[in-house]
Amino acid sequence: MKKLSLAILFASVLVAPMFANGQSESTGGQPSIGCAIYKFDDTFMTATRNSFAEAAKGKAKVNIVDSMNIQATQNEKVDLFITQGVDALALNPVDRAAAGVEIDKAKKAGIPVVFFNKQPFDEDMAKWDKVYYVGAKAEESGTMSGQIVADYWKAHPEADTNGDGVLQYAMIKGEPGHQDAELRTEYSIKCLKDNGIKVEKVAEDTGMWDRVKGQEKMAAFLTSKGDSIEAVFANNDDMALGAIEALKAAGYFNGKKYMPVVGVDATAPALQALQEGTLLGTVLNDSTNQGRATFNIAYDLAQGKTPTSESIGYTITDGQFVWVPYQMVTQDNYKDFM
Ligand code: BGC
Ligand code: CA
Repeated sequence: MKKLSLAILFASVLVAPMFANGQSESTGGQPSIGCAIYKFDDTFMTATRNSFAEAAKGKAKVNIVDSMNIQATQNEKVDLFITQGVDALALNPVDRAAAGVEIDKAKKAGIPVVFFNKQPFDEDMAKWDKVYYVGAKAEESGTMSGQIVADYWKAHPEADTNGDGVLQYAMIKGEPGHQDAELRTEYSIKCLKDNGIKVEKVAEDTGMWDRVKGQEKMAAFLTSKGDSIEAVFANNDDMALGAIEALKAAGYFNGKKYMPVVGVDATAPALQALQEGTLLGTVLNDSTNQGRATFNIAYDLAQGKTPTSESIGYTITDGQFVWVPYQMVTQDNYKDFM
C-alpha cells in the first residue's frame, strides 16, 4: 500500500507538471500530440501523414507511430501516449470498429481525440464531444469514378466489346468494412445505373488497397473471365495501377487493345498513368487538406481550446466532422494536380 501510494506520488510529480495544460518542459513549451497511423506502408496515408507532420512544424511536438496494420499494436501505442500524458490524440485506426474502445480510454484520461481516414461508427462519435473526425464523403468519390466511366461509355460505343448493350465490369475493392471501400463500390455502380447504363458485374474481389494485390486480382480475373471485362473499377489508385500492370501483361494498352480503368486518390504515379494514357481517370482524395485539418483540430484541442471552423480553417459540420471534398480527375484536368 505504502509502496503503491509512493509510486503514484512519484509518478504524478514526474508526469503531471511536465504535461499539464498543454505545456511541457520536454516539448519546449509546445503542446504534445500522439498520432497513430494504421500502417505506414500505405501510399495515401503516407501523404496524409506527411501533410500532418508538415502542419505541425514549429507548433506542436508530434509523435507519429506505425500501427503496422495490427489493431492490438495501435492499442498499445495509444496506452503509451496516455501514460505519457499527451495533450491530444490523432488516430487513424486499423479497424474502425475499434475506435469506440479508443474513445473510452481517451475520455477516461481526459485526452481529446481526432480520428481521420477511418470513420468511427456514429454511436462511437456520440460518446464524447471531444471527439472529431476528418475525412471525405466516400459516396462522392464513388459517384465521381462512376461518372468518369459513364462519360467514357457514352462517348465510345466500341467500349461495348461484345455489343450486348450492357457494361460488363470488374471491381477491385479496398479493405472490407472500410467505409471508403464499401461506399465507393456501391456508388460507382449506382452512378452508372443513374446514367441509364445497364451493368453486369463479372468479377469482384478485394485488393486490400495494395498495388501488388490489385495486380494479382486483375490477373486472376483475366484468367477466369478472359476478354469479357469491359471496364475496371478499383477503390484506389494503387490497386488500379496494379490492375494496369496485369492488363499490360495480357496485351492491353499496346496498339488497339484498351481497357478503361478508374481509381481514387490522384497519387503522383496515377497522374503519370493518366498522362501515359493507361489510367482513364481518378478522383482526388485530398491528403494535403485532410492531414492539415486533422492537425489543426488536434492543435486546438491540445491547447484546451474548442476547435471552430474559423480557428481550424475548415468547416466543422454537426459539431464533430470535417469533410474534405473530392475532385474528379480526367484527361481534361490532370495536369492541374501534378
Ligand atoms: C484511400 C486508400 C487508402 C485507405 C487507407 C482511402 O481513403 O483512398 O488509398 O489505402 O484510405 O485507409
Ligand atoms: Ca457489353
